Amino acid sequence: MKQWHAKTVDEVRIALAKQQMNRGKNELIEAQPVRWYFILARQFLNFLILILIIAAILSFYLSDKIDALAILAIIIFNAFLGFFHELRAETTLRALKKMLSPKCSIINKKKEQNIDVKNLIPGDCVVLRAGNIVPADMRIIKSANLMINEAALTGESVPAEKLSAPLPEETTISDQRNMAFMGTHIVNGHGIGLVVAIGMDTELGRISRLANKIVEVKTPLQTQLSVIGRQFGVLAVVISIIIILIGIFEGRDLINMLMTGISLAVSAIPEGLPAVVTIALALGARTMANKKALLRHLEAAETLGAVSIICTDKTGTLTKNQMKVERIWTAGETIDVTGIGYEPVGVFIKKNQQINPQSSFELMSLLNTGSKCNHAQINQEMGSWETLGPSDEIALLVAAFKAGIEQKHQGNITHEFSFDSVRKRMSVIEELEHSQMIHVKGAPEHIVPLCTHFIMDGNEIGLGPEEQKKIEYAYTHFAQKGLRTLALARKKIPKQAQVNVHEAESNLTFLGIIGLLDPPRPEVVHAIKVAQKAGIKIIMITGDSPITAKAIATEIGLNVTEAVTSNELQQMSDSELSTVLKQDILFARTVPEDKLRIVRLLQNQGNLVAMTGDGVNDTPALKQADVGIAMGVRGTDVARSAADIVLLDDNFTSIIAAVEEGRRQYANICKFVLYLTSSNIGEVLVIFVNMLFGGPLILIPIQILWINLITDSATAISLSIEPAERDIMKQPPRAINQRIINRNSFLLLGLFGSYIAVVSFLIYQLYLPHSYAVANTIAFTAVVVMANLHTLNFRSLTTPISEVGWFSNKSILVAIFCMMGLQVAAVYTPTLQHVLHTTSLSVSNWGVILVSALPLFLIPELYKKLRYKIVAS
Ligand code: ATP
Repeated sequence: MKQWHAKTVDEVRIALAKQQMNRGKNELIEAQPVRWYFILARQFLNFLILILIIAAILSFYLSDKIDALAILAIIIFNAFLGFFHELRAETTLRALKKMLSPKCSIINKKKEQNIDVKNLIPGDCVVLRAGNIVPADMRIIKSANLMINEAALTGESVPAEKLSAPLPEETTISDQRNMAFMGTHIVNGHGIGLVVAIGMDTELGRISRLANKIVEVKTPLQTQLSVIGRQFGVLAVVISIIIILIGIFEGRDLINMLMTGISLAVSAIPEGLPAVVTIALALGARTMANKKALLRHLEAAETLGAVSIICTDKTGTLTKNQMKVERIWTAGETIDVTGIGYEPVGVFIKKNQQINPQSSFELMSLLNTGSKCNHAQINQEMGSWETLGPSDEIALLVAAFKAGIEQKHQGNITHEFSFDSVRKRMSVIEELEHSQMIHVKGAPEHIVPLCTHFIMDGNEIGLGPEEQKKIEYAYTHFAQKGLRTLALARKKIPKQAQVNVHEAESNLTFLGIIGLLDPPRPEVVHAIKVAQKAGIKIIMITGDSPITAKAIATEIGLNVTEAVTSNELQQMSDSELSTVLKQDILFARTVPEDKLRIVRLLQNQGNLVAMTGDGVNDTPALKQADVGIAMGVRGTDVARSAADIVLLDDNFTSIIAAVEEGRRQYANICKFVLYLTSSNIGEVLVIFVNMLFGGPLILIPIQILWINLITDSATAISLSIEPAERDIMKQPPRAINQRIINRNSFLLLGLFGSYIAVVSFLIYQLYLPHSYAVANTIAFTAVVVMANLHTLNFRSLTTPISEVGWFSNKSILVAIFCMMGLQVAAVYTPTLQHVLHTTSLSVSNWGVILVSALPLFLIPELYKKLRYKIVAS
């Protein structure tokens, strides 16, 4: 029997038992992960490296065998270095992906339990809620307004209503209204599904077998670097060809000149830059994950660093989302509720007197409705209270407990009109012995207009404008204290009556207002200060009331002159709203479409916008924002799957930490690129100048490769882990299209490059008349020393190293010492002398090298010190 034809849960289980079931993990087999040997092979499959290998082989047969072998050794060493870095990046990314592994709720021994989606097995009963992504194929066995968008599977974007009734056996997939399929989005309502297929046995699994592809997208920075790489590459090739031609023209050895030209081109072409950026970004992504921001796309880190506006919701992001019923207003009286946390211990106080809640009919009716219009659960387990569900509903349950209403009295709920952020309310229908009771809860402004009665002294009385005013005064007063407000109402209908949402939510009897305390996160105050100093504007966009939102904004130090509600916003034209967006504002009582409009207009003004979101309806705004940020704890699966970043702790502070991290990574990549380019310019220039002067080769091919492939890259990589500069969050956000190599940096590269070239050329010329071997070794060593020392210049382009801290990036010092050690070995060990054609240097030779190299570091340092003093004063 087919699962959709089965009439009862037991029949579905029997049908399942008869099938050959996948008992493995509930996972889609991913497109082949990149295998290690592909990564290794990739290191050699580079046009220039291939030419170099061919040239080395030629040289092996035609000229110096040791040179040829040494070149091959360097190529292999370099390839392994690249391989290990890339492998590390790959494994880091894979580990990060695992952290994103989704969870779902199942019913186990009548209790809800959270498990990893990958551990689902056929036969599990899964709780389905709006915002979930269906975790496996399942037969619906219970549904309340369950609407599922199946676009991921069928392409149909209009959500389908799902029911639990059996269907004929021949029903095709698109008509299987009682089945929910893996990967589809629940947009409304809730229900329960019995898992019938998992992993590759699901419909999605079948499709993914057909389309098992991963598309790699380049980040803007990587694209920019590819362009830089290509431009410098062409330049290096042209210069190399000129050098080869000059060499041939001067009658030098052909093979030797070819090797010089190719080695130079291989060393000078920064074609590996995009790969290095991937490594830097992957390592950065791990740091961000430690700071509770999980990247779903690497390029998000880059964009984050340039964000100029953060639109954030309030509940749970700026506040703790640990709610507690603080005050209740019912029958014209205010009642305080004591107690802390979710422990249901506390008392009710009216006019400074403790009262017995059970003696107040109004209060008990209100708490009763609050506990029935509710999906939360609280259970006492081994002495402590375990909670499940949204925190405002938990708070309502806890308050009801304090009054003696226990969860087991939650009633027989037969129907629900779920909460949505446009109606801003929800209602349930409870079946009573002789009638039905509709319980409604929601934002007071959206409930009070639906009420025609209220309860006073146990009687239902007509609700006139005067009472309405009193109620309005009560919830405004609560909101001014920063309390989140909910209104509760109910109505009785006949036993057999069937009602739609409008009929259910009209002519209600008002029960009272609940004021929930949701204190701001204390650390947010500092984070907001940091953001403001960093030139980032923060706009609160909340579904809560403008008064509560403003009170919370003031508490956390957010300057707000105006709170604009959704209604007001919808009255505004785009140009009016654009003007308003330039002021210190917040948006309250918003609906998700408002977010999309706000993001678009902010982007039109040239801003780079980060936007938080948690609901299904936030998806368009999350996608439209330059950085979509979803909540890891509170957010729905759908929002998470649309976002660029998932916040593991839902905390605003983590956004700011991630922005800082994004800025640091970008700054370091720039430093790294500028450093490598300037040293390469120096080397190309000195060889070129020397060729023009016509002397013997200042650097021979193997030395060129040694400098670039061994010594430069290790120090350069340690620049990518440089800590953030102290003033990184005191500068305005960079423009997203800012070029790494602009006019200023070009000048800088020219100056640094020329210094390296001129100084090494002069030393070479100084010693050449005495001995070529010494002159060549000195020039070679001078270039290595300068390239290493030069790294320090790039630790900060503005702050002197004494301020940055000599030891704040120890790996750069270690790298420099190791590279210098290698160079000493190159100069003194007989084997390396043989391979690199070097000779031992005297102390005075080293003295000359150091004296000529030091200004390359000292002059910029002096400039930075002076500049720093001027700025500080
Ligand atoms: P934020 O947008 O900052 O997260 P929020 O949680 O208040 O704030 P929404 O979820 O859109 O935003 O809720 C808007 C209002 O709807 C709330 O202030 C509350 O009055 C009401 N509300 C929220 N959740 C429920 C619910 N489950 N049942 C009934 N009313 C609710």
